[in-house]
Amino acid sequence: MKLFNLNEKVALITGGNGGIGLAMAKAIGEAGATVVIAGRNEDKNKNSIEELNSLNIKCKSLIVDVVDEISCNELIEDVVKEFGKINILVNNAGTNIRKRPEEYELDEWKSIIDTNLISMFTCSKAVFKFFKNVNGGKIINIGSMHSLFGAPLGSAYSASKGGVVQLTKSLANTWAKDNIQVNAVLPGYIDTTLTRQARIDIPELQKRVEERTPAGRWGDPDDLGGIAVFLSSDASNYVTGTAIPVDGGYSING
Ligand code: NDP
Repeated sequence: MKLFNLNEKVALITGGNGGIGLAMAKAIGEAGATVVIAGRNEDKNKNSIEELNSLNIKCKSLIVDVVDEISCNELIEDVVKEFGKINILVNNAGTNIRKRPEEYELDEWKSIIDTNLISMFTCSKAVFKFFKNVNGGKIINIGSMHSLFGAPLGSAYSASKGGVVQLTKSLANTWAKDNIQVNAVLPGYIDTTLTRQARIDIPELQKRVEERTPAGRWGDPDDLGGIAVFLSSDASNYVTGTAIPVDGGYSING
């Protein structure tokens, strides 16, 4: 359908070499876009490119460390150098360290804010002038259920993901007249490397999520594909500043 068609679009997905980012890259690529995935780990990049190639998706991988402003700026300039433009930015790279608040070293705490929140500002700022060149663009920021709730073992993660929602609203407000739509997606509990570690740290988590989620199951990364295409496409041209849960109903179950 034309409304969801991403032919001729160029999309960059940070942390696109695994989990939710790779699933979004696949969906955006299958809708017609050229996708660039960016992460730190070269092997993961390579494996993900093989997967995208097997789906006949036009793609490239680049190395980035999203906590480094220069690295983010170079990444976005490289995308434009290679493909002539950029239309879609998915700020997906993220991390977590689970500890009680009093146990964090300040550097650890700051590293989570740097990775999950400040990187979104850096990449969004860097992409702005290139979006202006093509009269608009789409930014998708990945939040979390912890944009809404406070994780007992995740003060930095919750603070960063709460910040993602407010940053999204602020950028959306400022850039609406530039035809740039900025939205956040709040995934529920999705089966990825990140949550595999969480289930080791918190053994009861697997069952607790199944019981609370009305859909009765954990999410699969591919469950995030539809929202990624919608928020990347013309179908969402009048949707901006939102924070959309994709959580099997987890957040509406009291
Ligand atoms: P993964 O661990 O599979 O993916 C995290 C990605 O972030 C990896 O591709 C990693 O790439 C990249 N990354 C981390 N730090 C950096 C960095 N400094 N520079 C560049 N890339 C970086 O986990 P998920 O797929 O689960 O997580 C993706 C996003 O979804 C995160 O923002 C997470 O907070 C969010 N989320 C996940 C949920 C879940 O249930 N899984 C729920 C809610 C939100 P590399 O290894 O190459 O550095």
